[in-house]
Formats: sequence, C-alpha cells, structure tokens
Amino acid sequence: VPVIGVLALQGDVREHVAALAGAGAEARPVRRPAELDAVDGLVIPGGESTTISKLADVFEMREPIDKRITAGLPVYGSCAGMIMLASEVLDGRPDQRGFQGIEMTVRRNAFGRQVDSFEAPVRIAGIEGEPFHAIFIRAPWVERVGEGVEVLGRVTDGPAADRIVAVRQGNLLATSFHPELTGDLRLHRYFVDLVRAAV
Ligand code: GLN
Repeated sequence: VPVIGVLALQGDVREHVAALAGAGAEARPVRRPAELDAVDGLVIPGGESTTISKLADVFEMREPIDKRITAGLPVYGSCAGMIMLASEVLDGRPDQRGFQGIEMTVRRNAFGRQVDSFEAPVRIAGIEGEPFHAIFIRAPWVERVGEGVEVLGRVTDGPAADRIVAVRQGNLLATSFHPELTGDLRLHRYFVDLVRAAV
C-alpha cells in the first residue's frame, strides 16, 4: 500500500487524508522533513498559497520538498497546491514562492473576485465516466503550459469556458478544483495509481 502524505501547513488537510484513504493509500499529514522522508507521494491541499509558502520556510520544508520533487516524487496539488506547483504565478504576492514544479503560468484568484466560488462539469483525460462536478473556490486557472505539460481538463462552458483547470507533467498533477470536497474519489485513485507506478 503506498504511503501518501498531505502537506499539513495550512488548508483542507483532513479532507485529502480521508479521500486518499478511501482511494486505497495509507494517508498521513506531513509537517516535518522526517515525515516527508517516509512518504511515496505528497498532496498539497487547497488553502492559501501565500500562507503555505510562508510556512514552508518556517517549518524548513521548502528545500526537502524541492529535492524530493526533483528526484521524481509524485505530487498532486489542488487549488492553492496547484499554485505552489507552478513555475510562474500571476497576481501572486511578491514574496510567495512555489516548489520545483510544473512548467506553467497560473493566475491566482482568476475566476474573479465577485464570484468567490462556482461549480462546473469538467472532464479529465484518462478518467472514465461522468465529468467531475468541479468546485472552484477563489481558484487559479492555467494561462500557459510548457512543452512537457499535458492538459488534462478544461472548463466546458460559461464565462470561464476553455480555461485549463487540470494538468500533469510527469509525476506532478494539479487541479484548480477540489475533488476532495465532493466524495468523488476518481482523481485520488488516479493519483494513488501514479504513486504505485512510481514506487
Ligand atoms: N486563492 C487561494 C490562493 O491563492 C487558493 C484558494 C484555494 O485553495 N481554495 O492560494
């Protein structure tokens, strides 16, 4: 059984731990470098990327996470976690910094400040069945992807139609939305399979 950590500096950690456990992983919160050493994969939850960035330094987790990612650790970032995996962030705070991550430009709080959250159906390439009922909460979208980045999902209609909201680059996976809030375990299963394949 793969051991998957959820970065527990800030954000909806418990929901990801529950979803990962439901998807067949041994899931645990990770806050210290020694705990990071013991996992086969990592989830960076939704929350507030500026806070996660700050706390990554306070808890001395930045360098260990960068190193594991460079060494091939599978990581799934959702919402703020997507921002933490982006090589470039628009509308970020000047002092926020991500991890070694996906070659892409994301725009923070992209869906508009009036609309704090909205829901839309999103199909994910490689995942069978109904589209995801995607929940976006002050979410980023992806404005540019590098060559090695696979676009897995886009918003299908409405004012944000065609916006990229799910991507993968090698062992790194990111979504703008929060599958951990809907009880739909398919994305967590997809990530657990990715971790199994990488171990
Ligand atoms: N707006 C948040 C940020 O910038 C992300 C929101 C979320 O994770 N639900 O990090």
